[in-house]
Amino acid sequence: MPRALIVHAHPEPGSFCAAQMREAAGTLQAQGYEVQISDLYAQGWSAGLGRGDFTHPQGGHFKPQAEQVRAAQDHTFAPDVAAELEKLLGADLLVFSFPLWWFSLPALLKGWVDRVFAMGAAYGAGVGTYDKGRFVGRRALLLFTTGGPESAYGPQADNGELETVLFHVHNGMLRFAGYTVLAPVVGFSPVRVSDDERAAQLGRVREAFQTLDQRTKVFG
Ligand SMILES: Cc1cc2nc3c(=O)[nH]c(=O)nc-3n(C[C@H](O)[C@H](O)[C@H](O)COP(=O)(O)OP(=O)(O)OC[C@H]3O[C@@H](n4cnc5c(N)ncnc54)[C@H](O)[C@@H]3O)c2cc1C
Repeated sequence: MPRALIVHAHPEPGSFCAAQMREAAGTLQAQGYEVQISDLYAQGWSAGLGRGDFTHPQGGHFKPQAEQVRAAQDHTFAPDVAAELEKLLGADLLVFSFPLWWFSLPALLKGWVDRVFAMGAAYGAGVGTYDKGRFVGRRALLLFTTGGPESAYGPQADNGELETVLFHVHNGMLRFAGYTVLAPVVGFSPVRVSDDERAAQLGRVREAFQTLDQRTKVFG
């Protein structure tokens, strides 16, 4: 049975972003995926990488990547990191679900990447990157909402093109770790659209997650 991990970061369970996430999860389950959801606000996730990520941190000058490599070898990640890492390593499909904040991931989700995409476990130090990365052959995609309408994202728009806005996530995090990156699923400006348009968007989320095999690839 294929396995999916959805890492969701929105502080409001009744948000449209959360509705998109539930639609995606249900659609994947209907296709036979075992779906795990890391709901970062609900589980009290901490964003800050630090000594607390390790059960036996070295004293003195703190070197995050050296600590991660050692923890990957010795299995000494703190329980919250170890639990997320186990889900990540077991997932064939990785989905980040979030509202676009400052052209990027909410801090909690960025902190999930800082702490869980750990050197020696998810990349580097013998694990590899890009086309030799740990997650080669697995897929990842972004599922998010925006404040700006679709017209606010384009070559002539002030915000620029979404591919440019998202490059640091698509390439710097997902492709860097080896994933095949699928085109994002975007709910543009749910605050400003009608109930009908929001219902239609949930339909587009369903269709996107029913047809992942046909989805355009950003990388990979
Ligand atoms: C710090 C910060 C930075 C930001 N930076 C950016 C940025 O860089 N670029 C940008 O474009 N935007 C930005 N925004 C705006 C942000 O992306 C949007 O406010 C957010 O994505 C909207 O999605 P939501 O899920 O939070 O909307 P919500 O307000 O939760 O939902 C919108 C509406 O949908 C309704 N709804 C909920 N569930 C359902 C359902 N199942 N069916 C139908 N309707 C439903 C809700 O009741 C609500 O009326 C930023 C916001 C913040 C706070």
